[in-house]
Amino acid sequence: MKVPEEPCQCPDCLRFYREHDRLIREFPTLRKQQEINWAALQSFRTLCGRVLEDLQKTINSNSSNQSEENFQEGTTEKKEKSITQVISDLENVNAHLYSIEALMERIFDVKVPDEVEDKFREVAGELAPDPLNIDRLRLNRLLHQTPDLPDK
Ligand SMILES: [Zn+2]
Repeated sequence: MKVPEEPCQCPDCLRFYREHDRLIREFPTLRKQQEINWAALQSFRTLCGRVLEDLQKTINSNSSNQSEENFQEGTTEKKEKSITQVISDLENVNAHLYSIEALMERIFDVKVPDEVEDKFREVAGELAPDPLNIDRLRLNRLLHQTPDLPDK
């Protein structure tokens, strides 16, 4: 018999599962998922765009200083190259975020009737119950006492 593979339990994955469940628990309807995801995308874009702007300013003022001082060699130039690389990476991130925004706008046109929003809530409760919920604590205890589960 094949033992079903256990989900990875490394700290990063555990943090991800917790965050995943929390987002379902706290935003259990289509409407709320739309809002939180929109807000997350926009905050990502705002922050990223602002950092990009600052880096571009930095590199512009650096290069004008540098031509005035007739190119101090070495470290400044090397540092600037890596900043150029970072700027191009961030520009890519921003371009992707922009595309995602265009796609998301279509998702956010969708509205569903209240009955369906109730269904969302119901399923959210099943997928990600309150971790401190007494039923869940009981279930966890049961699972941990099941003898045929591999000890880890
Ligand atoms: Zn992992």
